[in-house]
Amino acid sequence: MTIGFGFIGASDIAKNKMLAAIRNTPNCEVVSVYSSNLERGRAYAAETFIPHAASSLEDLLSNPAVNAVYISTTNELHYPQTLAAAQAGKHVLCEKPLAMSLTEAQAMQAACQTASVVFATNHHLRNAQAHHKMRELIAAGAIGKPIAARVFHAVYLREALQGWRLDKPEAGAGVVLDIVVHDVDTLRFVLQADPTEVVSLSQQFGMSAGMIEDGSMAVFRFDNGVIAQVHTAFTVPYAGNGFEVHGTEGSLIAKNVMHPAAQPEVLLRTARGDHLLELTANEVYNIGVERFVAAIQGQGTPAASGEDGIWSLAGALACLESARTGQKVAINL
Ligand code: NDP
Repeated sequence: MTIGFGFIGASDIAKNKMLAAIRNTPNCEVVSVYSSNLERGRAYAAETFIPHAASSLEDLLSNPAVNAVYISTTNELHYPQTLAAAQAGKHVLCEKPLAMSLTEAQAMQAACQTASVVFATNHHLRNAQAHHKMRELIAAGAIGKPIAARVFHAVYLREALQGWRLDKPEAGAGVVLDIVVHDVDTLRFVLQADPTEVVSLSQQFGMSAGMIEDGSMAVFRFDNGVIAQVHTAFTVPYAGNGFEVHGTEGSLIAKNVMHPAAQPEVLLRTARGDHLLELTANEVYNIGVERFVAAIQGQGTPAASGEDGIWSLAGALACLESARTGQKVAINL
């Protein structure tokens, strides 16, 4: 069976990552794109060779060739658009953050469950081979009992993306909803543990407008006792990125694993010395689409489920609340 995708949102990520990921997946095609501006939608469709530009969300959702939607609009629209897609019986692959509140994200999951459609979150980083290997090594006891983790994920927001992320709080602007969600998800995946509380400070270093943060440092506690430090920013051009987990018997020290384009490196350091893991860069977005499509076909679960997206949102919202109130904030689902 061919899976026809409808794009909800004529976005940068859809054009630059997800279009190829879907086209690289057997028996999948993007059949229509919906933009709130039909003229823009038509131009986008022509540029990307998508055969149809929908004139409205209803137009896209009533198209029988659309079996699944990929939602990559600005963050406040994910909620109503997921509800509409589920009601129309379409499977949903939704961008992060799933929504602006936990109540909305939980309603999205419930709507998909009621409609018996697959609901997945596009957390691509957990598909990286580096994170899989780290997860396996930790589970196998290679670093003993994990004590602490550090995530370095400060970037310089490229100019093309310096729009709503910096000045539209109503669209879910800010580095925390944009990047901390990925970090919480990757930590949960690698540690196989859930966050329980967070303390954080945020920063406005001149890139974002008003009260919107363009930098954040947070410390999360996980239910296996690990504390994890997370640095994210839109303003830092040369930091590089990394992910470390330190345990009683060893450390995993990874570089270039928080951006799919970089050449990843993971070092296992124990009493026996340093061991550099053999890694190949893998197509993390392709894997997300493949797992989503397999789940639609009744084979397995999405790489990141709706539940995973709810957890990452819970972590990010708690991080924002901690920065706002100056208090430690509990993370409960
Ligand atoms: P974009 O800014 O490219 O697109 C978001 C919306 O803005 C589009 O749906 C579109 O509205 C509108 N838009 C885009 N370009 C223009 C333009 N030139 N003129 C007018 N309107 C425009 O967002 P991103 O692709 O950066 O992000 C979209 C979503 O994907 C977000 O939720 C984000 O968090 C997520 N994301 C996820 C990533 C991942 O790796 N998982 C990476 C990057 C983003 P319309 O459709 O109505 O035309």
